[in-house]
Amino acid sequence: TDFGFKQVKKDEKVSMVADVFHSVAAKYDIMNDLMSMGVHRLWKRYTIDCSGVKSGQRVLDLAGGTGDLAAKFSRIVGPKGQVVLADINHSMLKVGKDKLTNMGIIGNVDYVQANAECLPFDDNHFDLITIAFGLRNVTDKSAALASMYRVLKPGGRLLVLEFSKPSSQALSKVYDAYSFHVLPRMGQLVANDAESYRYLAESIRMHPDQDTLEGMMQEVGFEQTSYHNLTGGIVALHRGFKF
Ligand code: SAM
Repeated sequence: TDFGFKQVKKDEKVSMVADVFHSVAAKYDIMNDLMSMGVHRLWKRYTIDCSGVKSGQRVLDLAGGTGDLAAKFSRIVGPKGQVVLADINHSMLKVGKDKLTNMGIIGNVDYVQANAECLPFDDNHFDLITIAFGLRNVTDKSAALASMYRVLKPGGRLLVLEFSKPSSQALSKVYDAYSFHVLPRMGQLVANDAESYRYLAESIRMHPDQDTLEGMMQEVGFEQTSYHNLTGGIVALHRGFKF
């Protein structure tokens, strides 16, 4: 089944993605922990470990949502650095801003409502850009990658953390059963919203696999690209540099 998503037009996809994240924003963090059984925390920890980010640097956490990565980067870059948490969806941004503020994280984090496809930042501005579980939702992924390339400083790096293609057939079967049957039921039970979680499963299935995404990064100019599979390729961390 493809739930008809393949047929939707660009504008419809944009508003559908908006609806999904408005409706999940309040329950987003708890659903993340439940659905991934807490493992998203390890995937994010690995991303931080690969970031090479240093005190005083500028970081863009794109599609940053409720701010898990932004919170960690804020502590690393310190008062002389800057973190921009950017997201297209103001409900997600608000949950993120409230969460970080409650954690006492203030001063070096800015919150910007922006579309990844046309970033409202100067050229050559950031030392690091992360986009975690966000690229999958973007309609024009190449435009978004090109926009990230533009705002990255020479020497800067991009990290894309995203669902990808499991490396074994057996894992792929278990995972499909989980995402198409268990996830929507969990969404229904916990968030009273099966539809959004069905969209999630479908968007994961449609996302480019590891090699395709790496090729797309190279096409817009990223160099020394590589990826690392996590949890058997259920998730992959892609890396690329601008020189
Ligand atoms: N990065 C966070 C994390 O890992 O927990 C949030 C990930 S959440 C699954 C995806 C986020 O992407 C949502 O907050 C959504 O609003 C945002 N998003 C979707 N399309 C976007 C776009 N075109 N530009 C910027 N953000 C977008």
